[in-house]
Amino acid sequence: MSDLDRVRRWADALLALHLDESWSFGFDNAARRAGLCDFGKKRITVSRHLAERFDDDRIHQVLLHEVAHALAGAGAGHGPRWRELARDLGYVGGTTHDGPIATERARWSGSCPAGHSFVRFRRPGREVSCGRCSRRFDRGSIITWVDLRRAS
Ligand SMILES: [Zn+2]
Ligand SMILES: [Zn+2]
Repeated sequence: MSDLDRVRRWADALLALHLDESWSFGFDNAARRAGLCDFGKKRITVSRHLAERFDDDRIHQVLLHEVAHALAGAGAGHGPRWRELARDLGYVGGTTHDGPIATERARWSGSCPAGHSFVRFRRPGREVSCGRCSRRFDRGSIITWVDLRRAS
């Protein structure tokens, strides 16, 4: 069984345990982001590239992170509700969706109301809205930033 088959098995089992049947799991081709929760399609995906490189614990954590998003709902972002659900699931990581290289070095973590995550080395000087939710500046998709050095 390949690593990807194993990941798929865990993912299917996790989804069956925590979410209803309308949710599905798949792989995507993202190079830097580890996982994604697509509320529109009700689909959780994990980067094929990172799934092949990450160890088991790390992939498991990525899955828990995304399942918590699915449970918390699209508006929750990485706010208190998401954090509580993630903790209950056994998630111990941070609030980013990026690969290990980016997250370990970046200081600022941001998320839009729909749960898209971003990392920055410096705090953005002005308000930024989520480029994945809207191509133009959109007040409803403002990214909120967290200082990772101060967050526990
Ligand atoms: Zn997240
Ligand atoms: Zn967004």
